[in-house]
Amino acid sequence: MATQVRELVRDRAFLIRSTDYGDDHLILSLLTSEHGRVELIARSAKKSLKRFVGSLDFLQVMECEFKPNPHGGLATLTQCHVQEVFEEVREDYSLSIFALQWTKLLSQAVQQGQNVSGLFMLLRDNLACLRLGEIFFRDLSFRYHLLSLLGYHLDFALCARCRENIGGNCRLYPEDGGVLCGDCDASHRGFELEIQVVKLLSGDVPSQSVEKTSYDKALHSLQKCFQSLLGIEFGDIDFNFPSML
Ligand SMILES: [Zn+2]
Repeated sequence: MATQVRELVRDRAFLIRSTDYGDDHLILSLLTSEHGRVELIARSAKKSLKRFVGSLDFLQVMECEFKPNPHGGLATLTQCHVQEVFEEVREDYSLSIFALQWTKLLSQAVQQGQNVSGLFMLLRDNLACLRLGEIFFRDLSFRYHLLSLLGYHLDFALCARCRENIGGNCRLYPEDGGVLCGDCDASHRGFELEIQVVKLLSGDVPSQSVEKTSYDKALHSLQKCFQSLLGIEFGDIDFNFPSML
């Protein structure tokens, strides 16, 4: 029996996708802290109320125990408890829309079995900060860091073509995967970025230091740019932003 106990895995996780399976079961996709994306079956999750007692829900950290499938198929969820609930996000209509969109992005951009370090904490930290306001910046910041963790890091400091330093305002070209310097930028058709907002996104300056109008303009510009970039890297994924800006 001891070997069976050792087979069980414990981890913290977010639910990122849930599908009915037959009348009683659920197929779940979890974004776990240590094991990346895991696909599981939660047997009788819809029939037995006491089994997982309302713990299988979005926008909360769950403490899960599951048994991996040695043949590579679905793991089996054996226990699940709620560990952290983001009540203020769940109770706010707008915040919920943003947060669920992040969940959907993760379920689309992270492949089954893929383990990308930092994704779990990215979602956790951003959910914890959402209630503090600056919702559009938070949304943009989430996407920026999601792209970086997935290997599409936007380096605003160097020209994507000649690798020269860029010190001021610049334009971003999704097809080049970055910003271009004045010498390489012949068309001037890229997304205009103000250096202050770039620094803001990179975490170099506090948001109060950026003037409101240029901040809004740059956020809008970055939104369009990210949508375009994500569209190139993940062609079939719906990366639309909540249409509130
Ligand atoms: Zn250049």
